[in-house]
Amino acid sequence: MAAAASTSTPSELTVPVNKTVHAFDKGVLDALLARRFFFAPAFEIYGGVAGLYDYGPTGSALQANILNEWRKHYIIEEDMLELDTTIMTLAEVLKTSGHVDKFADWMVKDVKTGEIFRADHLVEGVLEARLKGDKEARGVKDEPVVEEDADKKKKKKKVVKSVAIKLDDNTVAEYDYLLAQIDNYTGPELGEIIRKHKITNPVTGNEVSEPVEFNLMFESNIGPTGQIKGYLRPETAQGHFVNFARLLEFNNGKVPFASAQIGRSFRNEIAPRQGLLRVREFTMAEIEHYVDPLDKKHARFNEVKDVVLTLLPKDVQSEGKTDLTKKTVGDAVAEGIIDNETLGYFLGRTQLFLTKIGIDSERLRCRQHMANEMAHYAADCWDFEIQSSYGWIECVGCADRSAYDLTVHSVRTKQPLRVQQKLDTPRVVEKLEVTFEAKAFGMKFKKDATMIKDTLLGLEKDKLQCIKDELANGSSSVQCTDGKSYEITPDLVKIDPITVTEHIREFTPNVIEPSFGIGRILYSLLEHSYWAREQDKARGVLSLPSIVAPIKCLIVTISQDPQLRNLIHDVSRRMRRLGIASRVDDSGASIGKKYARNDELGTPFGCTVDFASIQNGTMTLRERDSTSQLIGPIDTVISVVDELVKGTLDWEGASKKLDSYSGVQDVAE
Ligand code: AMP
Repeated sequence: MAAAASTSTPSELTVPVNKTVHAFDKGVLDALLARRFFFAPAFEIYGGVAGLYDYGPTGSALQANILNEWRKHYIIEEDMLELDTTIMTLAEVLKTSGHVDKFADWMVKDVKTGEIFRADHLVEGVLEARLKGDKEARGVKDEPVVEEDADKKKKKKKVVKSVAIKLDDNTVAEYDYLLAQIDNYTGPELGEIIRKHKITNPVTGNEVSEPVEFNLMFESNIGPTGQIKGYLRPETAQGHFVNFARLLEFNNGKVPFASAQIGRSFRNEIAPRQGLLRVREFTMAEIEHYVDPLDKKHARFNEVKDVVLTLLPKDVQSEGKTDLTKKTVGDAVAEGIIDNETLGYFLGRTQLFLTKIGIDSERLRCRQHMANEMAHYAADCWDFEIQSSYGWIECVGCADRSAYDLTVHSVRTKQPLRVQQKLDTPRVVEKLEVTFEAKAFGMKFKKDATMIKDTLLGLEKDKLQCIKDELANGSSSVQCTDGKSYEITPDLVKIDPITVTEHIREFTPNVIEPSFGIGRILYSLLEHSYWAREQDKARGVLSLPSIVAPIKCLIVTISQDPQLRNLIHDVSRRMRRLGIASRVDDSGASIGKKYARNDELGTPFGCTVDFASIQNGTMTLRERDSTSQLIGPIDTVISVVDELVKGTLDWEGASKKLDSYSGVQDVAE
């Protein structure tokens, strides 16, 4: 069949993407992701292990492309200092950072069967199921609550069953209130909720134990005799902090600057369900931005001030509500909803990144941490939550970690992790000097004396002033890195005001940390991209933006003619030489079927050669979402694909460089 240029304009050929023409069917998407090997349970042929997954060729390419965009968006564009630090981490480092003592979740046990639940997830699942049962009793339709159990070799849908029972209005209000605050409860508080609301194992109906803490880190030993204790890191952040002095030197001693790292982290999650959303090994991309604590402005703030965020501030949640507000970054910072410009800057940049790679902005919100949820040292913290069939899930955490990490590592190692700023004019400052009654201090605190001393010497002036005031009343206490508090008295420690002339200002930078969970983003993106064509519910399409699509271009021929088969391999070679991930399909399937198979992979473009290609040197180009087609000389089509993939040209631009084409039927058989 000779390819003939048609007279219709591209817009006439365009079928708009309608993602809601069929209701979202998670089962169909899961089947697609498994069939096209995006990812699969690790060690599947041995029965699998919950929370461990392998990515196949499509999933790996999608992840690599997301990370590539992440590197361009942050590391390259923002001139960040990239790191690749070890995964195996010295226990002492994680002891100092607080992970050994505090990186834990609360778990409960079925008292008869011993089945383990994460306490907050159990409460959440049961209360949600009860609310759903209440809606059913009142005749209100709702989406099912679905959890996937990756423990089983065969994936099994596990539904927290709802029973249609009408609740009174006060109970509904109380459940809504508890759910809005679920991340805010301590273990004992969760225990109280479990008892008060008679929450049991939803399957057996058995009672569950009181919540106990479970540390999420995987412990290990380094060396043949196991003499050095270590852990698989639960985040990449500590690798940045322990290298701070070198990074600062690399940056000529100046702040602000940022370090960035992409790498694997490990968390021994209590009950990893929800597919890629809660796993035990995952890729993180983390930024640590070091900033002067007295100046958290950001030089590029103007570039993001008009970016609109969907916000769920902490005071709304503490009223038991989940109402969302849309606000520009500029307004949210000016109104004090977001603590400072630098934090606002990263929230704005992250919104731009997530929407650029294809996350639906209507299913994206920024939820602020409430008081109990936030680490005690953090000044402000926001999570980017993405909505999927699993509900709203944290995918990026953006925290202002203050000077905590650098201070504790500095105190522990006695390395000065501080910035020295030369002052243009020397200044006279009032300081507080700490002196010790060495003998008495040593006798009282013995092996802990040095740690307490170093902690006191590392404190900022306002903290020292509080201790001084308390000492005047008889005694005070010092909170140390071991998590304990030590009582001090005026006979051991003296804090006196002194006046000094400073030529140099010295300070510990504060750290703003955006922390990305790549697997969660990748899965959410797959759900947001998935839809099915109106004419065929089973014909799934992944409308991934071309920058992240695993394969950019499909190359096919309408016939098995040897000349045409040679031609498609030649076109593929030329595209690959340009760095375009292309894929030849020289099977005997129809063109429509070949296109459909690649729509499932999210391949945005398709080139078809036919006998006109040999006669006239032309090739057609198809766009996945609209299925509209263009035609032009093979060389031109290849360079148009190159531009489309790089993002320097859109489909409208392409249709100005090539003619419209409507010669090939685009239907699956
Ligand atoms: P966090 O340090 O807990 O704030 O986690 C940072 C990011 O890592 C989160 O925003 C998630 O995207 C991701 N993350 C944390 N835990 C897991 C997990 N178990 N599985 C997958 N991603 C995770």
